[in-house]
Amino acid sequence: MKPIPYFEFRDFPAGSEAAVQTALMEVVVGRHYILGKQLLIFEEAYAAYLGAAAAVGVGNGYDALVLALKGVGIGAGDEVVLPAHTFIATINAVLQVGATPVLVEPDKGTCNITAATAAKAITAKTKAILPVHLYGQVCEMEPLLQLAKDHHLKVVEDAAQAHGATYKEQKAGVFGHASAFSFYPTKNLGALGDAGAVVTNDVAIADFVRMYRNYGEVRKYQSEVIGINSRLDELQAAVLRVKLSYLDSLNTERQRLAAVYLQELQGFDKLILPVTAPDCNHVYHIFNVRTKHRDALQQQLQEQGIQTAIHYPVSMHLQPAYRFLGYGAGDFPVTEELAKTSLSLPLFPGLEPEEQERVVKAVKRFFR
Ligand SMILES: *Cc1c(COP(=O)(O)O)cnc(C)c1O
Repeated sequence: MKPIPYFEFRDFPAGSEAAVQTALMEVVVGRHYILGKQLLIFEEAYAAYLGAAAAVGVGNGYDALVLALKGVGIGAGDEVVLPAHTFIATINAVLQVGATPVLVEPDKGTCNITAATAAKAITAKTKAILPVHLYGQVCEMEPLLQLAKDHHLKVVEDAAQAHGATYKEQKAGVFGHASAFSFYPTKNLGALGDAGAVVTNDVAIADFVRMYRNYGEVRKYQSEVIGINSRLDELQAAVLRVKLSYLDSLNTERQRLAAVYLQELQGFDKLILPVTAPDCNHVYHIFNVRTKHRDALQQQLQEQGIQTAIHYPVSMHLQPAYRFLGYGAGDFPVTEELAKTSLSLPLFPGLEPEEQERVVKAVKRFFR
């Protein structure tokens, strides 16, 4: 039987690949490759799509996090509160700007941090909260924003998995002082290479990021700060402009596939399905199920040619690289439990009904 990939690029919706090819050729023929009109068009379109004042394209999601943190003024000596359960880019960005990461537990249901868990980590040195909209679901932002306000903290969203996801009708990326997006190819909005963006409603932050991503120059050979090179090139911007027009249909397809899994896989007490909070519209970047029998389930699916993934198998605080932070086993029981029990099922636009049916049957067989 044909293997079912965890993720595969497919021409969904049909014809979108051809539209991307046309846009790429336009750039090739136009012979302008860096900081040109494609980037401007995409930045404007993405800001408008989100309902934000500005989007500034950068080289990747990690740089977007670093620049967003710098943009809101986070640096050495500051503490930043972030989830223990996230991709390492989030914590690395905090360390990159010289700040101290302070990890907090996610909620058991949504896998996102909440005001209640974040509040426990706030000290006199805390300068920012960095919520991650994990798996494609926005954190419950109202209480988090209130908490930040009460303690005069900045909020920087890691929206790398949540393009188009909403909380109380507003899109991920518009809640904080600044937010970071990744357009890594497999994200809900993906380029054909690396790309990212900082999104903000604060024009001064947008101007700072625009300057900083291009060596700190306000104009050619006029340096205001010592910046870096993290530009989003014209080819990727052209791809993103075209793919942005499909983002809602891509997300709707992800939601349709998720609804099939949620319907078909309910009722097994040994299997925990993803939970969507009442005010959220989940865009299922990742369809994460949980079971104590995770390794056996993954193995059995693998034997039937069904690929799965684990987000994330080893908690950051237990990785050698972060030992110096002083955390140890048992410090984050929810996070550690998620690492042991999480399994991501195949879910991507273009996954065929027969393929999903095979996944459903295989999972059901395992738990029966
Ligand atoms: C993908 C991702 C990033 C980093 O994005 P890159 O473009 O790969 O640098 C950051 N945070 C989260 C939560 C991500 O999923």
